[in-house]
Amino acid sequence: MTHTRPFSKILIANRGEIAIRVIRACRQLGIATVSVHSSADRDSLHVTMADESICIGGPQASQSYLNSQAILAAADLTQADAIHPGYGFLSESADFAEQVTASGFTFIGPSSDVIRLMGDKVSAISAMKNAGIPTVPGSEGILTNDHDANLAIAERIGYPVIIKATAGGGGKGMRVVHEPIKLLEAIELTQSEAKAAFGNGGVYLEKYLTKPRHIEVQILADTHGNVFSLGDRDCSMQRSQQKVIEEAPAPEISPHQRQAIGERCIAACKAIGYLGAGTFEFLYQDNEFFFMEMNTRIQVEHTVTEMVTHVDIVAEQINIAAGKTLSHSQALIPAQGHAIECRINAEDPKSFIPSPGTITHLRQPNGLGIRWESHLYQGYQVPPSYDAMIGKLITWGEDRETAIARMQSALDELEIEGIKTNIPLLKNLIKEEGFIAGSQSIHYLEHWLSP
Ligand code: ADP
Repeated sequence: MTHTRPFSKILIANRGEIAIRVIRACRQLGIATVSVHSSADRDSLHVTMADESICIGGPQASQSYLNSQAILAAADLTQADAIHPGYGFLSESADFAEQVTASGFTFIGPSSDVIRLMGDKVSAISAMKNAGIPTVPGSEGILTNDHDANLAIAERIGYPVIIKATAGGGGKGMRVVHEPIKLLEAIELTQSEAKAAFGNGGVYLEKYLTKPRHIEVQILADTHGNVFSLGDRDCSMQRSQQKVIEEAPAPEISPHQRQAIGERCIAACKAIGYLGAGTFEFLYQDNEFFFMEMNTRIQVEHTVTEMVTHVDIVAEQINIAAGKTLSHSQALIPAQGHAIECRINAEDPKSFIPSPGTITHLRQPNGLGIRWESHLYQGYQVPPSYDAMIGKLITWGEDRETAIARMQSALDELEIEGIKTNIPLLKNLIKEEGFIAGSQSIHYLEHWLSP
């Protein structure tokens, strides 16, 4: 079989470690790369590593990484064939995906229709429910202003309940209600907040799970109807709705359960015509999965799945977008060993206040089963304008214990000076009894931080 390049040139509409991750995949596939950057990112590694780079605007994301017109102009100018959106920024904008396609480029991701369907929580839940995915008991649609009807829904489901904005995101636009007397006010407050923040005041109601784990399933789907599950990840170690440590596979999920949820996710992808890499996010409590949302893009934590499946998920995204057929011997790709990822943030480890500045000293960890994904270098200035994540440290071991031991040693080896980082916190957490035991709920880390 002849080995054809999926594309000649790809533009990466992102920055930092994920832009570098995509550049590496492109290089390995023999594809030329174009990076775009803001004026604050001139000296960034994603700029120097790409074959070509273009400044698309000012430091504020709205002027550059969210400026779809400037990105499309850069793609035009450099004659790129396709655009990879990475995560964050425009990666889940159905409008952007539509503009990319309308301008004659390939969008590396699912269709804009599917992004739109999954971007609205109520439509996503309903599509998933119809496709056989287990969902949280809830209002099954936007709440009306009929207070008695809303009270009846909450009564049927049982308190506590959570009111969520259908257009919500990033953990915003939700409110927990413990008793009927508070319901009306909570609905009205969430509606007006959602209207102000997202321009859509639609809210719905569902059962509030008190001690869930966050478990997600990674999927790959090609244009020929082949869908694969790459298994699950546990991302329950969170602070302020932000994942801090992720691992694959999720501890203490039985082979039977893993197979069942994987098969359902595959069937759901087929039902909605999903394309590319995607993640089904679930809350998991009392041995049951409850669908929360689907991320229609590559995720930060895709790395842990790569370590246990040996599948290059970013390369597969590119291959799928080019119409290539995915081939794996099983629909449910099994995990080998265990992988853990720690997100390294430029922030004070106690107050969590962001800590931009110049890296005066950097020692990167290395060794068997250790992976370091980052755009840092000695002398680099971490700009104040973007997310605090400056690197991802990933370890693999034949079992969880080995992956943890390697993480402990790799965190000791990692030295970043000149700015504050969360490395001291991660060093403590990774040695902590509860983390080592595994299977903690999403509230565990916050309780541990402020007992
Ligand atoms: P967003 O898109 O804003 O991230 P999600 O629907 O993913 O919104 O919810 C964000 C977080 O809120 C979840 O990670 C979980 O911690 C919490 N949450 C959402 N729904 C529920 C629920 N039904 N029960 C308990 N916690 C929930």
